[in-house]
Amino acid sequence: MDEPLRTDVAVVGAGAAGLYAALVAADDGARVVLVSRSPLAQTASYWAQGGIAAALALDDSPELHVEDTLKAGRGAARRSAVRVLCEESPGRVHDLQRLGVRFDADRAGNLALGLEGGHSRRRIAHAGGAATGRRITRDLSALAATHERIRVLEPLAATSLATHEGRCVGLTARPRRGVPLAVLAHGVILATGGMAALWERTTNPRGAVGAGLSLADGAGAMLADLEFMQFHPTALSRPGPKDGFLITEAVRGEGATLLDARGERFVDELAPRDQVALAIDAHLREGGRVSLDMRSVDVERFPNIAATLAEEGIDASRDLVPVAPAAHYTMGGVATDLEGRSTLPGLYAIGESACTGLHGANRLASNSLAECFVFARRAALAACAEPEPSGSVANREAVHTRLPSESTRAALWRYAGLRRDAAGLRQLLEDPFPLTRLIASACLAREESRGAHQRTDRPDTDPALDGMHTLVGAGAAPRFERWE
Ligand SMILES: Cc1cc2nc3c(=O)[nH]c(=O)nc-3n(C[C@H](O)[C@H](O)[C@H](O)COP(=O)(O)OP(=O)(O)OC[C@H]3O[C@@H](n4cnc5c(N)ncnc54)[C@H](O)[C@@H]3O)c2cc1C
Repeated sequence: MDEPLRTDVAVVGAGAAGLYAALVAADDGARVVLVSRSPLAQTASYWAQGGIAAALALDDSPELHVEDTLKAGRGAARRSAVRVLCEESPGRVHDLQRLGVRFDADRAGNLALGLEGGHSRRRIAHAGGAATGRRITRDLSALAATHERIRVLEPLAATSLATHEGRCVGLTARPRRGVPLAVLAHGVILATGGMAALWERTTNPRGAVGAGLSLADGAGAMLADLEFMQFHPTALSRPGPKDGFLITEAVRGEGATLLDARGERFVDELAPRDQVALAIDAHLREGGRVSLDMRSVDVERFPNIAATLAEEGIDASRDLVPVAPAAHYTMGGVATDLEGRSTLPGLYAIGESACTGLHGANRLASNSLAECFVFARRAALAACAEPEPSGSVANREAVHTRLPSESTRAALWRYAGLRRDAAGLRQLLEDPFPLTRLIASACLAREESRGAHQRTDRPDTDPALDGMHTLVGAGAAPRFERWE
């Protein structure tokens, strides 16, 4: 390996959270190295459709947004994190506007706010109809690429974190071919996205396999709430490469309905996601069929969805769209405080790779992009204040940044899907992919059903676990912690 590259802040991942963290740190005066494994179109951020939740409407307030988020979180959301998100997300939307992101506006020039499941007000800021993620990542990556204090290393994958005297002091980044590069940094921020692509049926790009969680675990940081994987109710159900294509909840916000095989409605389409996904799953298990009826919706408002469906021969203004749930969003992640600090000093995590406890057992729609910006800013500013690393550096080689096998993905879908039980979960304890074993141990530890974690052998919610978060990692048995 060549001489290490020295920087103030190293950011791993160039989705919404990583790009914004890099820009905030650089604007604060830090030298930033931004390591990204893949092109933009392989980030979940690029595919985000609905938008960013922020209490911006005249009839809305952060307090109402807090209420909706806590309700959706099923008694497991961390109140302090929810408050931070709801109070700060309007400011982050304005920051993005200052950075040049153009959100959709109504005829009077006011932000056109969408409605999504679980929200009591219209509060979803969107861009390009359902192309919000694409617009934001395009604009932010152009700024990062030309910022004088940001050095972009792409395509390089962080394969291990460096630790020294109990601190994270850098990382190793590997190109596909060639010599690995050591990066020494005062603070390292993981922004590597979630792990929904560990499940066979997913809305996520294939790279979303929890690389940051594996890196953090390999370096000795704790992970939290891995049992809470959100299944999106309405992913296209169709053999072939478009299977799992997400049809945003915003479509239901505009009046699309869910129909069973007899053409009848069977669920409140705007109930929180866990409820809608379970209702659809119940129909499918009985051999039924579920369709999304978008015929009353102005499909021109969702051009990329209409275009993808058209490629599949579905005319959304005329035909019913076959849908089924798919693994979508990782509520758990690297355990952090409200500034993104992990349990390992010097190491931060933000965006979908982090678990602040904000989402509890069920994320409220469009709170995740808001989370990316709110907590990226906090973590970036905290990382800028970290001391310079000293002494020699011990590099811990992470053993599990590789991709999971198809049999691991099938096993997670089967045994840790929308409904699970102890007998199935125990099978996952033998899986060769280390993160799978941690997920299984978190699922087994939570002996109740709550939100996205439905145990058929423990169907009731245990009030003793309200507000409790499951910690796993560092070779220790799972334990619960109450986060205020
Ligand atoms: C189809 C779809 C639609 C969605 N719609 C919405 C929505 O409307 N509103 C909303 O709030 N949320 C939505 N979400 C969720 C939201 O998009 C994500 O939670 C969010 O974008 C995650 O951003 P991130 O920056 O944390 O991670 P990502 O955007 O996934 O970026 C991760 C980055 O890390 C890089 N990376 C990973 N591992 C490594 C490594 N080892 N080394 C270097 N780089 C690495 C990747 O290449 C990538 O650049 C949606 C998700 C999907 C999949």
